[in-house]
Amino acid sequence: TYVIAQPCIDVVDRACVEECPVDCIYEGERALYIHPDECVDCGACEPVCPVEAIYYEDDLPAEFTPYLQDNADFFFEA
Ligand code: SF4
Repeated sequence: TYVIAQPCIDVVDRACVEECPVDCIYEGERALYIHPDECVDCGACEPVCPVEAIYYEDDLPAEFTPYLQDNADFFFEA
């Protein structure tokens, strides 16, 4: 799955939402979140993010790895 990390917080540009072919990017209070079971790993959202908040899960920089769980928690533990 792709993951939205810290740079999205309080930015919420939504360019990625327009690009996602399966509409799996959802809006929270302060950031956007990618549904891990709905994402088809197409990569379309990543280059359009103006703050480079989106990463493939295996490519997350070390400081952003907690966001893999954070995205999942938004959907499964809310
Ligand atoms: Fe949507 Fe593709 Fe981005 Fe997954 S990788 S969130 S399917 S645009």
